[in-house]
Amino acid sequence: MILVTGGAGFIGSNFVLDWLADPAAEGVVNLDALTYAGNLANLASLKDDPRHVFVHGDITDRALIDRLLATHRPRALVHFAAESHVDRSIHGPGAFMRTNVDGTFTLLEAARAFWGTLEGAEKAAFRFHHVSTDEVYGSLKPSDPPFAETNPYEPNSPYSASKAASDHLVRAWHHTYGLPVVTTNCSNNYGPYHFPEKLIPLMIVNALAGKPLPVYGDGQQIRDWLYVKDHCSAIRAVLAGGRLGETYNIGGWNEQANIDIVNIVCSLLDELQPDPAGPYARLITYVTDRPGHDRRYAIDARKIERELGWRPAETFATGIRKTVAWYLANREWVAEVQSGSYRDWLARNYGGR
Ligand code: NAD
Repeated sequence: MILVTGGAGFIGSNFVLDWLADPAAEGVVNLDALTYAGNLANLASLKDDPRHVFVHGDITDRALIDRLLATHRPRALVHFAAESHVDRSIHGPGAFMRTNVDGTFTLLEAARAFWGTLEGAEKAAFRFHHVSTDEVYGSLKPSDPPFAETNPYEPNSPYSASKAASDHLVRAWHHTYGLPVVTTNCSNNYGPYHFPEKLIPLMIVNALAGKPLPVYGDGQQIRDWLYVKDHCSAIRAVLAGGRLGETYNIGGWNEQANIDIVNIVCSLLDELQPDPAGPYARLITYVTDRPGHDRRYAIDARKIERELGWRPAETFATGIRKTVAWYLANREWVAEVQSGSYRDWLARNYGGR
């Protein structure tokens, strides 16, 4: 059994689906508070799979975490749960401190207590895997080399500061208490089940609705994009073979300016779902830049490749095509998310459990 937090969110649900796609995989206890970003409809295909146990709860609830650890005795805790949207962190940083900092602290303390009760092989096998972001490293100039694991932390937004704080807590719990931790810092993900407030799904969904495609500032902010299933395979590799106390950067070797991403999405839509009104790029609208917007992130993923043999399976061309096709084939999911009706999913399908 493994305990996953935030497994109803974008990356967490992809991870749980990917993990359980292996018929021989251990079961998953999936703890998620179902904030606006958590959507159990992502996991609809697991509804009758006894290997998936969903628990509706908060990672700041120490008594609940203690109970889950004691009951299920997981051999690993994979921690995705977070407030994850930079714009939301600018307008309301409080929730980011509570979930990302206090929540991680609560999990670490509960894991430390549980790990302390283990012995022998069970104790040696236990892992606390902390899922984090490249945004903790700050912003790169055009001539800078990509972020390596040795880069100093220079977070610039309330979101990245809260993730940086959580990374430091995880590091300290290893150095001080010996808790067997691994941390991964990944670049921007894209793919199925991505909440349409983030760049790529927002552009797809708005374009299909004939709405403006808002691009911040000059659109020249550069991000390194990774297909979400490649992130999942990297986490599996680190969980299985990562060295304790180490951090591993995960990236797609794929730097793209935001405006180029928007144009790529528009041309794929022009090909797959042409709009009689004209090319989708006509909808591109430049809007006032986000305050403190980082210019460039890029990941040096050589350590995970060298130590664990991990490489992304998708190129950006193959991954973005799959993503656009997924959104076209899953209009109902998009409509439910946009209308907010996905929030009734728990009651309708899990009877409120
Ligand atoms: P998301 O916002 O889609 O999902 C977060 C999930 O956590 C949701 O299901 C939400 O309900 C749950 N959650 C929030 N607060 C909670 C709480 N207090 N208790 C329990 N559950 C709670 O986020 P995501 O994009 O899937 O990101 C997952 C993790 O990966 C985060 O830690 C994020 O920092 C990290 N990350 C994301 C990206 C990216 O591009 N999205 C890149 C690198 C790292």
